[in-house]
Parts: sequence; C-alpha cells; structure tokens
Amino acid sequence: MEKNTKKICLLAALLFIITILSPNVSLANGDSYEVSSSVLNIRSEPSNSASLVGQFTKGDKVSVFNEQYGWVQTYYGGEPVWVAKHHLIPTGDSNQAEAPAAESAGEASGSVTVSADSIYVRSGPSTEDTIVSYAYKGDSFDVVSTSGDWLKISLSDGGTGWIAAWLTTDGNANAAETTEDSAPTVEAAQTQSSSSGSLSGYNIVIDPGHGGKDPGAIGLNNVYEKDVVTSTANYVVQQLEEAGANVIMTRSGDYFVSLEERVRISNSYNTDAFISLHYDSFSAVPVSGVTTYYNSNADAALAGSLNSTLSSTVSLPSRGTQPAGYKVLAETNAPSVLIELGYITNPHDLTVVQTADYQSSVARAITNGLINHLSN
Ligand SMILES: [Zn+2]
Repeated sequence: MEKNTKKICLLAALLFIITILSPNVSLANGDSYEVSSSVLNIRSEPSNSASLVGQFTKGDKVSVFNEQYGWVQTYYGGEPVWVAKHHLIPTGDSNQAEAPAAESAGEASGSVTVSADSIYVRSGPSTEDTIVSYAYKGDSFDVVSTSGDWLKISLSDGGTGWIAAWLTTDGNANAAETTEDSAPTVEAAQTQSSSSGSLSGYNIVIDPGHGGKDPGAIGLNNVYEKDVVTSTANYVVQQLEEAGANVIMTRSGDYFVSLEERVRISNSYNTDAFISLHYDSFSAVPVSGVTTYYNSNADAALAGSLNSTLSSTVSLPSRGTQPAGYKVLAETNAPSVLIELGYITNPHDLTVVQTADYQSSVARAITNGLINHLSN
C-alpha cells in the first residue's frame, strides 16, 4: 500500500515534469492548428518559391514547431516542412484566440463602405499597426467591433482587419483627417513625369501574381506579396493606358486565378507582351533587388529592354535577366517576362517597395521598356 502510493507520487511528479518540458508550453512549439483554406500548399522552405511537397486540405490538423516570416514549420511524411500561417486557425487549448477580444469597446454596427479612394487595412486600431491589405472606394465590409475611431472588419478571406472610420461612410468627414490613413492612390502616379512615346494599338497583358487564397510570399510584418503586387499593377496599368496601350489584366482584385487561366487569358488575345508582376522572398534576409525572368529566346529581347529601363529607373539594384521555366512564361504564346520587383523579406526592400514613388517608378520603367522594345 505504502509502496503503491510512493509509485503514484513518483509517476505524478514525472508527469508534471513532462508537462513542464512539453513543447506545448511555449508558443509555436507543438501548438495545434486547423487548416482554414480549401487547399494549403506544403513547401520545403518558408518561401513561396520553395518546392511544393504536398497539400493539406480544410480541416486538417497541424502541429507547429517553428515560425518564420509568417510561415510555420510542421512535419509531413516524417519530414520537416513549411506552410503559410495565414491559413491556420488555432484549435484546442489555444481557444482564447477565438474568444471576444478585450478591444471590443464598441458594438458591431452592421456594414460599412469605404469612402476614400484607397485605404490601408491594418492589424490593429492605429496607424502604427501593420498594413495587412488594401481596400478601395465602394468596398463594403461587415463591422465586427469598434475601438475609438477605428472599425474592425471581416475580410473576404475569413480574417479580420482594422480600418479608419473617418475614411468610410461611417466617419464624420473631417477634412483635416481624411487623408491621414489613405493608401497611395493611382492618381498620385500622374504627378510623376509620364512616359514618352506611344503604345497605341498594342495589347499588353498585365498578370498580377497570386491573389485570394494564395497570398504569395509573406514578407516581414506579415506583408502579403499579393497586396503589394495588386497596388503596383494598378500603377502599371494606369501608365500603360496613358501611353495608349490596350491593357488586359489577368486579375483586377483580390481573388484566386489559376496559372492555367492566366495563360488562357493571354492566349485568347492577340497579345504583344505578357508581363507577370511579383515580389520575391528568400530565407536569407540580405538579398535585395529586381530580377527579370524569361523563358525562350523570343522572350529574351523583351526581358533585356525591361531590365534596362528598370535598372535605370527604379531605386533598387538590378539583378539582371535570368532564364526560368515558369508556366506563365513557357505556355503563353506572346513574348513574356516575369519580374520579381524586390524582396519583401528584406527590411530595406520592403520599406521601399511599399511606397507610391517606387511603384510608379516601376510603372514608368515597364512602360518605357515596352515602348523601346515594341518600336524597334
Ligand atoms: Zn510571386
């Protein structure tokens, strides 16, 4: 009897120690999550350009052991792999995350419509919080809660974000405040020196990479490649149209478009040039700059022209042109390039590429590069 009690005590002590040492105790160490998107790509490294190892589907349970730039490490087939954290929701013991937050100072008040041209969606209720995406005039959102002059809204991807009430139909329009958290608008680009020459009569396909359930690379501060790409593409389209081009976009909002569909769109027009826009990620932070990829010899001249104007126009260093086997380059009939416009995993690049100045300089470089290429 006494021996048994001793044994039980020992066992209890052992269990206690195991619990203390268990990876579940600290954050991102064996915490369990559930996949919230219909499909979640599994990659060999924390980068969207890393090789695809497999896919999880909605409802799959994932234990997380490490976290880096919005990617988390788990195991798949016994191997360490990485998935984008954005598509995971905490389960089980982390259920506090689902509880109503203390920040819910105000009641939910139905829906709200963006009244400024374009605004930032942030991770918290202040201009100090990280930008998680953009919203545009006329976009409507359900309001989850409020905090001061800020509205917490539901986003189409199932997440939430914060927007400034004074930039919505909810706000008491105060002229002094209205521009405070406006995102750079396409109109801002018009004040930059515009492109010379003419692209009239040319069909240009602009392919903003990723979108919807596919965030692309996830940079520092949880910046999504798809959002920076969308914003940049708007500048590019604007300048190309000013130069007279007929511009076709493979996506014009935050929704998913397959690579096959992007190719199909380009091939269904008499396309003169196909330009895919991306931002890079790399696990080593110091990598910086712009790279122009091409597939065939027919694409190389276009890549050369664009690389030349990019390196003379934009502020990030040029990494030159490189051959690559991307599907959107290999399967489009038109001369095509894929431009990686900077590394959102590099703090310097990330700051630069989010500015209106940078994005409109990219637009200028692409427009002038096309003019040089097509008029020769
Ligand atoms: Zn990309």
